[in-house]
Amino acid sequence: MTLRLFNSLTHAKEALTPLTPPKVGLYTCGPTVYNYQHVGNYRTYIFEDVLVRTLKLLGLTPYRVMNVTDVGHLTSQGDEGEDKMEVGAAREGKSAWDIAKFYTDSFLADCKALELLPPDVLCRATEFIPEQIALVQRLEKKGFVYQTSDGLYFDTTKLPDYGKLMTKEHLEGLKSGARVEENAEKRRLTDFALWKFSPQGKTRQMEWDSPWGKGFPGWHIECSAMAMKFLGETLDIHCGGIDHVPIHHTNEIAQSEGATGRPFSKIWLHGEFLLMNNAKMAKSSGGFVRLADLVERGFSPLDYKYHCFTAHYRKQLDFTWESLESSKTARRRLAEAARALGGAPAKPGCAEFSARFKDALSDDLNVPAALAAVWDALKSDLPDGAKKAFLDEAESVLALDLFSSPAEVAEDPAVTRLLAERQRARSDKNFAESDRLRQEIEALGWIVKDTKDGAKAVRK
Ligand code: AMP
Ligand code: ZN
Repeated sequence: MTLRLFNSLTHAKEALTPLTPPKVGLYTCGPTVYNYQHVGNYRTYIFEDVLVRTLKLLGLTPYRVMNVTDVGHLTSQGDEGEDKMEVGAAREGKSAWDIAKFYTDSFLADCKALELLPPDVLCRATEFIPEQIALVQRLEKKGFVYQTSDGLYFDTTKLPDYGKLMTKEHLEGLKSGARVEENAEKRRLTDFALWKFSPQGKTRQMEWDSPWGKGFPGWHIECSAMAMKFLGETLDIHCGGIDHVPIHHTNEIAQSEGATGRPFSKIWLHGEFLLMNNAKMAKSSGGFVRLADLVERGFSPLDYKYHCFTAHYRKQLDFTWESLESSKTARRRLAEAARALGGAPAKPGCAEFSARFKDALSDDLNVPAALAAVWDALKSDLPDGAKKAFLDEAESVLALDLFSSPAEVAEDPAVTRLLAERQRARSDKNFAESDRLRQEIEALGWIVKDTKDGAKAVRK
């Protein structure tokens, strides 16, 4: 079955034709670890997880690389402002290195709770500085680089098709000077930093020697350098959130293609935003919901995942507590129907629904249509064994933990609250507090079980 994906580069659905089948090399931009990730970020990682799992379902072998940005992402998109890692360090009175470790661990714990498959390679920008310097040198040799008092910049006029990923709206925005807080020494708005010097007379927490002077890499260069290190000069697929189109991915393409003269990625996929109060959920705005906040209100992280499955990844999705409640109910009903199949051994006979499920996913990852096939199969008069076989297949992509036993879960609100507090303590790496809360729950007559669906309390 052919997987068709909407390529942001060509604005069309295209058949995936891997460079070296069955392997599919894909790169997905990861978190900037100066703060917690919010559920909006997780919407993007959930769509990428569905992609990886769909590739496997279709008999392909995905090889996924994800970066962790732990240096060089500045507070302004215009190569000005402070490094977000240093902002996080100052906020919390810790070192930038400690901040990076803490929020990377928190991110990984949340991914686990959402049943997201770990990438094959998780690479931190700070671990690949020599590769980034080498790529800048390669660009320098080809005449793409100029130096100012504060760093090295990519000269975007030297690449004839610079900006090819941008839409008409992005280009119009550029003309009207939409980017603010620009660096005065840059020759033009679109040029971007490849290497920034440490400020005169100041020692940064994160800095390295380079042929041009002490400093740190620009944000975009890490992705080009690490993607090419692990996946070669041309990738099959590159993914990220839609906000990366006009700057981060546009500049990744410029650096990579400038250096190699080859296409950087055959397909570019972009997930749309999760909105809150009609605006993009973002750390900078007030509306910032963490996974731990959901758990505190009695939701499973997988209820949120189900919520993401109610919309196609290229459509905006609203986050409201009411809609999350509906998703929780829907997922519970689905799990009940799954459990009602009892121990029926999986048997063939679900070809029609299985084909519908695969067709939907093969059509640019249409998860809402795939989910509809699951509901229809459960309501159908197929024998239990056939339903079970189909559900096993669907779970390999959806990973909603439908076969767990919600009946075991404590309905006692006091226990639910303590479980949520324990989850928060764990995600804060406060294990002493987490142990104390476990004992408190046990004193109330429950045992804490860490399941694939997060922590559950069962009667002693
Ligand atoms: P960051 O940690 O800011 O670098 O973002 C990590 C990922 O989350 C990137 O792929 C972003 O494009 C994506 N992202 C950020 N905000 C949202 C949102 N509100 N909805 C969906 N994805 C988002
Ligand atoms: Zn990136």
